[in-house]
Amino acid sequence: TTSSPGAEAPGTVVIDAVTKHYGDSTAVDRLSLTIEAGEFISLLGPSGCGKTTTLRMIAGFEEPDDGDIRVSGRSVLGVPPYRRDVNTVFQAYALFPHMSVAENVAYGLQQKRTPKAEIHDRVVDALDLAQMRRFADRKPTQLSGGQQQRVALARALVNRPSVLLLDEPLGALDRQLREEMQLELKLLQSRLGVTFVFVTHDQGEALSMSDRIAIMRSGRIEQLADADTVYARPASAYVAAFVGQQNFFSGTVVEGGTAVDSTHALVRGTSAGLPAGGTGLAAVRPEFVSIEADVAADASGAANTARGSLIGVSHLGETMQYLVRLGDDQSLIARRPSPEAPQLSVGDAVVCSWRAESVLLFPADDAA
Ligand code: ATP
Repeated sequence: TTSSPGAEAPGTVVIDAVTKHYGDSTAVDRLSLTIEAGEFISLLGPSGCGKTTTLRMIAGFEEPDDGDIRVSGRSVLGVPPYRRDVNTVFQAYALFPHMSVAENVAYGLQQKRTPKAEIHDRVVDALDLAQMRRFADRKPTQLSGGQQQRVALARALVNRPSVLLLDEPLGALDRQLREEMQLELKLLQSRLGVTFVFVTHDQGEALSMSDRIAIMRSGRIEQLADADTVYARPASAYVAAFVGQQNFFSGTVVEGGTAVDSTHALVRGTSAGLPAGGTGLAAVRPEFVSIEADVAADASGAANTARGSLIGVSHLGETMQYLVRLGDDQSLIARRPSPEAPQLSVGDAVVCSWRAESVLLFPADDAA
């Protein structure tokens, strides 16, 4: 009988004030992050924010210029990748084309001179976990992209790492397969109890799988929280813009910091968040914006109301999306569940409105 590849206790990862420069540019900037044993954590952010560099330093492919990284309590600085208790799954699977699936998965263990019988058992286990056992004798070229990605996963799992690092592992897959694999990966992770550190620039992917999400900006973490918190209470306009979609209104902060007076709407929130008199940003998600035909056409300036002209209607499946032009410089997106979506046509005069509870207020931010 064989032990499960997840038998080893899940590891912790502590990134302690780590900095990494490339020439004059700072890829990672005094970043600190504590990852719990058995946690599924995602590093999320736009291209160039330092996600991959962070992952590569945990893996040992890069060394920090400053700071410390500890895996399960021990510093790994100076420890080569193959001696760290972590394994990486990359987007480019880099399978050996001339070897079978089973040989690809066995390769690392053979290099380590693991006994033959043990290699066999562990390869079977890893292929089972990745649901690839029936393809054991195929060559990578005889597999779909999703199947190749499963082999890459098996190749990492066969080492029974206590921490698995995943660098955009689903990036090359089409959307439907991607969503299937997201569910599978999440299930696999909870079954194995292995700590997962997952790098992605896809917010949907991060939201659907992670226990916690670290949203990165310019080599630092802007917010670290679970999906609900990041979505409902983003720490900054940058996070609000990156997770989900937002309609932003920029203007003068009024009413004691509870509202933003922009050209096309007075946007009022429920709490005083901003210093009065300065410039602020108010944000409302498209799913919180109601839309209807503007029959009254009275231009009264009620708060949290905007009038405009409908310039686009699109079916998104479960929802209908409406694009409204408020003025030359501003449009607004509203989204309604399809069963209750109003019948409107391009060119219609419309009025949009939202509740103060749905409004987020932020200081002005270049990145939003
Ligand atoms: P992506 O999603 O595009 O992979 P990322 O968030 O993973 O982006 P990194 O790859 O970590 O970002 O890169 C962070 C910064 O460091 C970028 O500005 C990048 O150009 C720079 N960088 C990364 N690797 C190197 C390198 N080997 N040499 C020089 N600069 C590098």
